Amino acid sequence: MHLCAECGVPIEGTKGSHVVQRPNLVSDEVADAVGDRLVVFGFVCERHRQPVVHPHPTNRYAANVNGGRGWTGVRLEFSDTVVRWVATPESQVER
Ligand SMILES: [Zn+2]
Repeated sequence: MHLCAECGVPIEGTKGSHVVQRPNLVSDEVADAVGDRLVVFGFVCERHRQPVVHPHPTNRYAANVNGGRGWTGVRLEFSDTVVRWVATPESQVER
């Protein structure tokens, strides 16, 4: 069971692709390719003024998202200032 970290509501049913606005990406190269909207695989809670996206934890290969096919990992700094790997479509980071 997946719960929103901010309000505790179940968000299991929202599993899929969601957009993180103005992502805080660790790599400048990735940030340049991505721009202001990063698509990530995970969950979202809509019970907030702005949707709160909860990316699914992954690794640099996004191996746990569709077997890594079509997805790759990027390092994203979260609002708690911890840097984690999140899965994004390969098309987001290719130029
Ligand atoms: Zn919430």
